[in-house]
Amino acid sequence: MCEQHPCWHLALGLHPYFNDQHTQQHLTDLADAVGRNKLVAVGEIGLDFMLDTTLEGFSIALQERWFVAQVKLAQQEKLPIIVHSRKANDRIGQLLRQLNFDQGGIVHGFSGNVQQAQKFTQLGFKIGLGGNLTYERAAAMRRLAQALPLSDIVLETDAPDMPMAGQDKGQPNRPDELPRVLAVLTQLRLESMSEIAMQTAVNTATVLRLN
Ligand SMILES: [Zn+2]
Repeated sequence: MCEQHPCWHLALGLHPYFNDQHTQQHLTDLADAVGRNKLVAVGEIGLDFMLDTTLEGFSIALQERWFVAQVKLAQQEKLPIIVHSRKANDRIGQLLRQLNFDQGGIVHGFSGNVQQAQKFTQLGFKIGLGGNLTYERAAAMRRLAQALPLSDIVLETDAPDMPMAGQDKGQPNRPDELPRVLAVLTQLRLESMSEIAMQTAVNTATVLRLN
């Protein structure tokens, strides 16, 4: 599909949701796929401590094993990573520093405080803001969206997940809902809509090294 649509870009990774199914062979396959395809990033990869980590397949040790292996692959291939982090911001930051990962990337669907966001941006990451922002009750998220420099933000939908406010929960989220995230961000910030649209697009292109 990415070959058919030049404005689409591919990222591949072993997601923590399927942590219990990953095998060493999948890592080998991923490394092969990185060599064969024009990937813009390895991802989503990450740690999800909201999963039941008492289960063997989702234990912290196993999650970290797959995550670390993929961070090393990305570093070796000089690719950014797209990070999935739930209740794991501090640990992910610690591991990225230990591994001297310096390719940056996106922490998508970011949930955390300004200090945690800054630790990621210092490592060359952008902060992905998406549908959560469209919920009026998301006060902490909205404060974060106001506090971050515009140069640190990228917009996302996480389609088909993370439904927007008012969207029927049974309906998949779609990439063309993205302007709703932009509209809410414009309400929250001092910059104009066109400025936010322009700068977040530049941020995405920069971090994923798109032409
Ligand atoms: Zn995710």
